[in-house]
Amino acid sequence: MPVPAPGELSSRLELSASAFRANVAAFRAVAGPGRQVGAVLKGNAYGHGFSEVLPLAHAAADWLYVITPGEGLAIRAFEAAQGAARRAVLVIGAASASEVVALAAAGVDVVVADRSFEAAAPLLRAKGLRASVHLHLDTGLGREGFTAAQLDQGDADGLAAARDVFEVKGVLSHFANTEDVTEQSYAVTQLEAFERSFKVLQRRLSIPPSTPRHFAASAAALVLPPSRFDVVRVGISLYGLWPSTETRLSAKVVLGELPALQPVLAWRCQSQVVKWVPAGSFIGYGCTWRCGADTRVAVLPVGYWDGYPRLASGKAHVLVNGRRCPVLGRVMMNHLIVDVTHAVADEAPVTATLLGRDGDESITAELLASWAQTIHYEVVTRLGPHLARRVVE
Ligand SMILES: *Cc1c(COP(=O)(O)O)cnc(C)c1O
Repeated sequence: MPVPAPGELSSRLELSASAFRANVAAFRAVAGPGRQVGAVLKGNAYGHGFSEVLPLAHAAADWLYVITPGEGLAIRAFEAAQGAARRAVLVIGAASASEVVALAAAGVDVVVADRSFEAAAPLLRAKGLRASVHLHLDTGLGREGFTAAQLDQGDADGLAAARDVFEVKGVLSHFANTEDVTEQSYAVTQLEAFERSFKVLQRRLSIPPSTPRHFAASAAALVLPPSRFDVVRVGISLYGLWPSTETRLSAKVVLGELPALQPVLAWRCQSQVVKWVPAGSFIGYGCTWRCGADTRVAVLPVGYWDGYPRLASGKAHVLVNGRRCPVLGRVMMNHLIVDVTHAVADEAPVTATLLGRDGDESITAELLASWAQTIHYEVVTRLGPHLARRVVE
């Protein structure tokens, strides 16, 4: 069933096309000549909206990375509908044997991370198809990918035996600890493991040393130059968000000048109600807030169902007319109540900014995440798929 359409007075996400393009350009500059930039569209394009971000990413990036086979096929459908040229697309998540067949037929690359790829070989052969595969190496994240021991025991050798149906198009890995630190010693051990395993693969699978490699996500692309290889796989930072404060500090040291990342997303809504409540009134469930004075409140049609974190209760503010307005009491399923006493002159409906800039003030995803004791990656990916999304220039 499709996601029900939001009402006209529901909150909406505004996506800046120019900000997205500027962020891709910033990573082209960081990566340097001869390297490609890939856009990671997982998690509903980091909550920004897969179908809204796809045209932007398709036009600006060299590679598109998705988690599910369905997303990979959706990109091919988009290209067919638009008459657009095919981009390189890689499904970095799990694909069953029959999905590998469907992706091979559509010209979408898949990741091979363990021996389960072998099941696809007879199906591909029966259809006369060849799958383009990227070998995922586990160099220290402990997630998907061949460990060095698995390579030594021959777990990837089936690729050499089934060259008629598998073509190795790339080798990749993923870092465990580049965002939360200013020293990259663990990442360096992963790079060393990657180099060792790449040599093993060259020997065991007879793949050329020129086989494309990709390793760096946003943080490593920014702060660890030897990790950039042939393509950088950039997620969070193409949406204009720094992976962490530590990354920003390190990038300043490594790059000299910080790339001007521009947040792509703003979240705004119109108020449902604006009214005065007298001193002594309680606000919201649990009566956790009591007004010390007469208070002009705005009731906003946004709640935790939409992805506004309930844990931000008692800490958050929103922007109205460029002023910070505290969220009073608890965040509810479909409502927030904010104090607009000093932000407006009357009880006319207001426009509130939940994320993004309004005048001189802004609320970053990092700030909302800090109120909610989580990371901005989680805040943006939890923005409801049902929210209206509009691309603006
Ligand atoms: C999420 C992910 C990325 C992108 O990470 P960011 O920190 O958002 O840039 C790249 N590669 C893989 C394998 C990932 O899972």
